Amino acid sequence: MCHLQMNKMMYDIEQIRKDFPILSRKIYGKPLIYLDNSATTQKPKCVVDAIADEYYSVNANVHRGVHFLSQQATELHEQSRETVRRFINARSSNEIVFTRGTTESINLLAATFGEAFMEAGDEVILTVMEHHSNIVPWQLLAMRKGIILRVIPMDDQGKLRLDEYGKLFSPRTKLVAAAHVSNVLGTVNPVREMAATAHAHGVPILVDGAQSVPHRKVDVQEMDADFFAFSGHKVYGPTGVGVLYGKEDWLDRLPPYQGGGEMIQSVSFGRTIFQELPFKFEAGTPDYIGTTALAKALDYVSAIGMERIAAHEQMLASYAMQELGRIPGIRIFGEAEGKEAVVSFLVGNIHHLDMGTLLDRLGIAVRTGHHCAQPLMERLGVEGTVRASFALYNTQEEVDALAEGIRRVSKMFNP
Ligand code: PLP
Repeated sequence: MCHLQMNKMMYDIEQIRKDFPILSRKIYGKPLIYLDNSATTQKPKCVVDAIADEYYSVNANVHRGVHFLSQQATELHEQSRETVRRFINARSSNEIVFTRGTTESINLLAATFGEAFMEAGDEVILTVMEHHSNIVPWQLLAMRKGIILRVIPMDDQGKLRLDEYGKLFSPRTKLVAAAHVSNVLGTVNPVREMAATAHAHGVPILVDGAQSVPHRKVDVQEMDADFFAFSGHKVYGPTGVGVLYGKEDWLDRLPPYQGGGEMIQSVSFGRTIFQELPFKFEAGTPDYIGTTALAKALDYVSAIGMERIAAHEQMLASYAMQELGRIPGIRIFGEAEGKEAVVSFLVGNIHHLDMGTLLDRLGIAVRTGHHCAQPLMERLGVEGTVRASFALYNTQEEVDALAEGIRRVSKMFNP
């Protein structure tokens, strides 16, 4: 209780919750408890309004028109790029490439980096806790070009084995690609240290920031990431828009990804001259409404303060680990120190799908299954887990309701 009172003074959770209309919904007559935030976050009203407002009053295609609306839409789109730049502290907005999300950002990099810098026998180092979107693009490259994947193992707490990481480098290593935060375990990987090791071997690093950007202050310069990817919809923004950050000297050396309008300076049937950064990578009409809404979402979390969001979520993480840890027969996957507010678990031999379905009947939305991390499931020796993942609007009372819900379901299976 004391926690909550202190917390209220520093962080106005009631006010924050009012910004998210969906949180007042009832599910099966019960108040919605939304704990599937790693999959996607809910949207504050200002983000949804920004989408409607731009369609109602500004809408026009960007970068092409001399007319007023087109220029206004272009200005909004380019201001959004600047907002993203500031948010992750990139040096220049030329380093911010808009994509459809983390998945497309990684595919873009795999395709272009693979084409420019990799040949058969070259190696990419990944971690055992990667999301499929940071595995399969490299496997496609393996199929096309014969590259080889090396995998950093983890210990039983869910911490990467950095001693093993160092041993994976060889003269054929061309790239390291690692999640900043695991979407299953909540482990925060030491990407700064990993970047330093990669650089000592003359190799760049891609950081998958899908699960870090919504929860902590990210500074790509401080981290010294060469590439960094994230999705708008996981940070309270719209679906269908994301970012690939890349250091300018790296992006300059990569070939274009897709061809089409926007990414060219001039085209003839004999020859095409490509645009400068970042447009070289942005073929076709961009989701300029989405980028405005993404900027609105980043402004929203910045106004609350990423440090305060992180502190609130850290409080939820330790409270959830403590309360869920007391449930008889529970197994929690991922116990690394400082982990993010993600709790993956199984109780006794209750199937994850049964647990998820019955919790849903209580109004509690959790995710079940392999969470797009099947190699990690194999390492954990399970087929799937139940995952509760928290966001800036979740409360301690919701953790209590989750713990109570899990106990109820457990009793149904073991009366
Ligand atoms: N990487 C991680 C760590 C994720 O958790 C996710 C989504 O859950 C992704 C990548 C893929 O994100 P998206 O589906 O938005 O492209």
